Order: sequence, then C-alpha cells, then structure tokens
Amino acid sequence: MIYLDYNATSPIHPDVRASMSRVLDGNYGNPSSLHAAGREAREAVEQARRTCLSAIGDPAGQLIFTSGGTEADNLAVKGLARALKQKGNHLIVSSVEHHAVLQPAEALREEGFRVTEVGVDRHGVLKLEDLRNAVTPETVLVSVMHANNEVGTIQPIAEAAAIARAQGALFHSDAVQSFGKVSLPASSDRPDALSLSAHKLGGPKGVGALYLRKGVKIAPTQQGGPHERNLRAGTEGVPGIVGMEAAVRLSVREEKEKVPARVLALREMLEKGLLEKVPDAVVNGHPTQRLPGTLNLSFRGCTGETLLIALDLEGICVSTGAACSSGSTEPSHVLTAMRLPADQVEGSIRFSLGRGTTREEIQRCLQIIPRVVERVRRA
Ligand code: PLP
Repeated sequence: MIYLDYNATSPIHPDVRASMSRVLDGNYGNPSSLHAAGREAREAVEQARRTCLSAIGDPAGQLIFTSGGTEADNLAVKGLARALKQKGNHLIVSSVEHHAVLQPAEALREEGFRVTEVGVDRHGVLKLEDLRNAVTPETVLVSVMHANNEVGTIQPIAEAAAIARAQGALFHSDAVQSFGKVSLPASSDRPDALSLSAHKLGGPKGVGALYLRKGVKIAPTQQGGPHERNLRAGTEGVPGIVGMEAAVRLSVREEKEKVPARVLALREMLEKGLLEKVPDAVVNGHPTQRLPGTLNLSFRGCTGETLLIALDLEGICVSTGAACSSGSTEPSHVLTAMRLPADQVEGSIRFSLGRGTTREEIQRCLQIIPRVVERVRRA
C-alpha cells in the first residue's frame, strides 16, 4: 500500500508509541488527584504543555488541551466571540475554513452574531483587501486558517492578524495542517489563538490543543469540573496528551533535520511527473505558498471519486478534498470558493505526503497513476 493521505491523518510514529506506552503502563493517575500517582500524571500534562508552548514560540502563553482540532476550533470561535460580546457582535471567517470553524460560526449567527465570510482568489489565498473592508469596530474575532487542508495554500496570516488587530479584534488561526510543517509568523505577528491537532503530526487521534496568547480571555463551551484552569471541563486524556507532546518534539527535531524539505522534494517530483505524463491535469492551490506535502490535482474528464476508487484498487490511498466530506456528493466548498470550473472541481484528487513517504513510492505512483487516469477517462 502507498499511503498518500497524510492530511487526513498520519501513522503513529514509534517515538510517540513509546511515550504513550510508558504512560499507559505506569502513569495511570488522574492529574486532579493530590496523591503521588495524581501528581505524576499532572507533571506529565504540564510538561506536555510546556513543550507545546515552546514549539509555538511563546512559553508564557496559555494552552488548553482538547479532544482534537475540531474541539479547539469550536472552543476558539464560540469561546472567544462570546467572551467579547460586550465589545461587538461581528465575526469574520474565510470562505475556505474547515467545517470545524464554519459551523460554529453558523451557530453563533443563530445566537445573534453577524458573520462575514471573506473570499479567496483562484489560488485559494485570502483577499486581504476584502478583509480590510470587512473589519469594523464591532468585529470581535477574525478566523483565518494557516494552511488549507484540501489544497495546501498557506494564508498570509501575519498580514490578516495585523488587519484584525488594527480594529481591536482578536485573530484565530486553525493551524491543524501547518503546525510542525510551516513556521509560524514571528512573535509580534503571531495569532492570538491557534488550533492544533496531534494526529496530523504522527501523534494519536482524539487529542489537540488551543493556544491562547497570555491575557486572552475565553468563555468555556463545556461545563463540568475545574480542569484546564476552568476553561475545558473533563479529566485530561494523559496518554493522548503525552503522545501529542512526543509528536510535537519530533516535528521540532525534524524541522532541524530538514524533513519538510525532503517531503517538498518528493511532492515536486510527483507534481512534475504527473503534469508531464498526464495530459490535461492542473494543480489546484498556490504554486509556491503551499504545504510541502500537499498536491491537489484535477484530472479533467474524470470524477475524483471514480479515480479514488480506481487508485485504491491499485493500492494507492488518496483523498478527494476534505476527508469529512468523503461519501458526500457535495462539491468541495474550498474549490468552489476558488471559483474553479465545475469539471476541475469534480475531477480533483488530493495527494498528501509525509515523513514516511519514499522516493520509490513516488516512482511507483508515476508508473501507476497515468495508466489509471487514462483507463478512467476511457470508461
Ligand atoms: N482543521 C483542519 C484544517 C483540518 O484539516 C482538520 C482535520 O482534518 C481539523 C480542523 C479537525 O481536526 P481533528 O481531526 O483533530 O478534529
């Protein structure tokens, strides 16, 4: 099997498994307990928090562990907007956000907030001028993802954050796909809030975090015990949190070892090879400002679903747009927002490479995929 769906999820790295096993076997305490077993679990959680904050580049910041990127996005959008209700009732999201941001924004609309969606250009890049025109003194929150999960386009979040701040609004960025792969802006331009998820980095599924700059206030969205400094009720999932820490450590180390550059070289090899070998294939997303491992291609004359199934039969795992929409026949809201022609939207396939991808796998893909596309086109 050739796994090219790292944006959906990534395999657990052995370092992560080892860290989690140590906790599963020996550190079973509840971090809220006052006895030695509890204190040991608490120390593991606090150590993980320090590691994540230091990887973000803000050791003094706040970090709330969550059940993943979806919960972090929900907490950010609802929690930040509600905490600032006194200031205003307007929030702004980009039209290419993950549903984990778009749907909480819709829920806020029902609570009386005004929601503006700012569009993107044909490469999927946020229209900064439109953002500038949309922000008002009533705007409490602007949420723009760091990198898009479907096409990989990296957004100008430093510029977007500056526009939000100029009107006193907070700036949140969903960094689920970018964290550990693309550097964050320097501290003065860093978002006020960031959503993270462990399973995109070789960590376990079901754990993530919301980073908040020091002093940023948030209204909790989940009620219960006083966990996570009263901001997220529920006993901390210690093994998952420790797994997330290991994944974050690993990505910091791999950045130094130039792993993202190696992934980029493989993606370029796949991109160049497919464009040469398959007539009428086009790249979706920004030509250069893109996640190193993401390649979204449209093969005109095919539907993405048919190609996905045909490639699966050949042992190649890919995706059509967002994983959460697979099984649905709805066209991708991201490609639609980029105003791509209908056949380009229909025929799109996402290849996403990661640390485990090899040159041999890409070479095999370059032999198999052109043949499969030709067969599907003829059918
Ligand atoms: N945000 C983006 C950009 C994503 O790609 C995903 C997952 O695909 C999520 C949020 C949701 O993260 P999780 O799967 O951890 O809930």
